[in-house]
Amino acid sequence: MLQKKSIEDVDVKGIKILLRADFNVPLEEGKVRDDARIRAVVPTIENLLSRGAALVLASHLGRPKGEAVPGLKMDPVADRLGELLGKPVRKLDRVFGPEVSKAVDEMKSGEILLLENLRFEKGEESNDRDFARQLAEPVDLFVSDAFGTAHRAHASTAGVAEFIPAVAGLLMKKEIEELSRCLENPQRPLTAILGGAKVSDKINVMRRFLQLTDHLLVGGGMANTFLAARGYSLGQSFYEQDLLETAQSIINESEKSGCRLILPDDLVVTRELKPGSESEVMAPQDISGDWKAVDIGPETVKSFGRYISTSAMIIWNGPLGVFETPPFDEGTRLTAREVASSNAYSVVGGGDLVAALEALDLAGKVDFISTGGGATLEFWEGKELPGIKVLQDKT
Ligand code: ADP
Ligand code: MG
Repeated sequence: MLQKKSIEDVDVKGIKILLRADFNVPLEEGKVRDDARIRAVVPTIENLLSRGAALVLASHLGRPKGEAVPGLKMDPVADRLGELLGKPVRKLDRVFGPEVSKAVDEMKSGEILLLENLRFEKGEESNDRDFARQLAEPVDLFVSDAFGTAHRAHASTAGVAEFIPAVAGLLMKKEIEELSRCLENPQRPLTAILGGAKVSDKINVMRRFLQLTDHLLVGGGMANTFLAARGYSLGQSFYEQDLLETAQSIINESEKSGCRLILPDDLVVTRELKPGSESEVMAPQDISGDWKAVDIGPETVKSFGRYISTSAMIIWNGPLGVFETPPFDEGTRLTAREVASSNAYSVVGGGDLVAALEALDLAGKVDFISTGGGATLEFWEGKELPGIKVLQDKT
């Protein structure tokens, strides 16, 4: 397993820390609509403050692309974080410069402030070395809790570590532990469930899962591409025409690997993607005309359920149908119920799947929910994420 230093391995009393968080939260009318990402960092903040550090918090919010966009200022985050911590969080209107240096110089142990949106500065996403140096300048230590952004080599996720020592926060540490243990030291049978729209987003993770898991259950739009590769015409269903060969080669690889690749036996089809529109259940070979497959069918739910109930560990990325349009969330919901009621240790990742589980009120039923979308996928692919690579190794 990746052995990275965390805040638990360093003395932080009396020092000043730049804490990179992922506070990229949805806003509504100038307020934070969903504070899950803020709450996820509170344990790290409280740990560091109680041990006598002074904290300079920084995050990006939305996509301001190097310009100061008034609707993307960090003030709503400061307000919500203040409520969660039970004390006001001072927010600065700049990311670096004399105002920031002065404010940080004056900070005392146990104090906290939040910088302005990092992506108001062009140097953030371009990982500009001079900008990274300016971020590091007023502080002694860099702590990263921004797992969701760790697959990006930005100034505040990677560049800054050239100038000050860098260690993981508690959330980052937990993500690394949870996401590695299902691949490095799994309990078996280990079952992976993959859904979502496109095979093209997930080719690498699929290939890795074929090597590492015992069963790979595939649903969602990506299953259509595999069924099309098997020769079914699938009517008007979404699939990726240019990935048919790739899908076929993955099917061939699965036959040589120790992993069973399971595709849907039946699908829910509709002519119109609208809530409550007319739908039927069809076998893949029966789908034609203007029907489109938008969810896994009841036989597939049962067959997935059999693999799930006999697994010791489950990893799941991507919804199994067009969950945004009920009733086509049914396959995802019933499968989530199976995962929740099985004895298996379950780890879930992916922006849309996590949103689906939250909407279905099932998020609390799995053992670990990753805060990453793209970062989780790249981690599972076995890539070295730039924001993790820069953290100091445990010696
Ligand atoms: P995640 O964010 O969990 O990794 P993706 O971004 O890969 O998931 O895919 C999510 C999208 O896949 C959703 O918007 C969902 O509507 C879509 N999807 C799922 N099943 C189908 C399908 N059968 N046809 C078209 N789109 C689908
Ligand atoms: Mg997504």
